[in-house]
Amino acid sequence: MRISFDLDDTLVCYHAGVPQEPRLHWFLRLFIHDEPLRQGTPELMRQLRQRGWEVWVYTTSNRSPAAVRRWLRWHGVLLDGMVNQDAHDRHLRRSPQDRPPSKNPAAFGIDLHVDDSDGVRMEGEQHGFQVAVVTPDDRDWTAKVLCAADELARRGDGR
Ligand SMILES: [Mg+2]
Repeated sequence: MRISFDLDDTLVCYHAGVPQEPRLHWFLRLFIHDEPLRQGTPELMRQLRQRGWEVWVYTTSNRSPAAVRRWLRWHGVLLDGMVNQDAHDRHLRRSPQDRPPSKNPAAFGIDLHVDDSDGVRMEGEQHGFQVAVVTPDDRDWTAKVLCAADELARRGDGR
């Protein structure tokens, strides 16, 4: 099964007071923009992989997939795929008249999407995709994600 994560305010939290993973070594930071990675991310991804989940990023930003993949790898996270705004538009906006939802994980074979936005959850209800909402002040966010993933796997909704 496939799970995706939003970046801004989900995995990348600039808010003061949100616990972060240790920053990368200064030498690596010469090569990449080391954004504040939310504490618990590498361990959560490891546990998801152990359960057989593919880990993806789905962001409405235009960060480069190669750069995000490298940044996460240096934090110990392997990424199986990424959808940025550009890929989303290419896949879902075939004409300028198309008004797809801001994200549509199901269109990329993603079974569960994790996001801080309640709007995305509501879009999920309308367009038939599963969203787990976690906010930056959610201290138990990794447990919440695992719980939602396990629940979905139990229901056998995925592929
Ligand atoms: Mg967000």
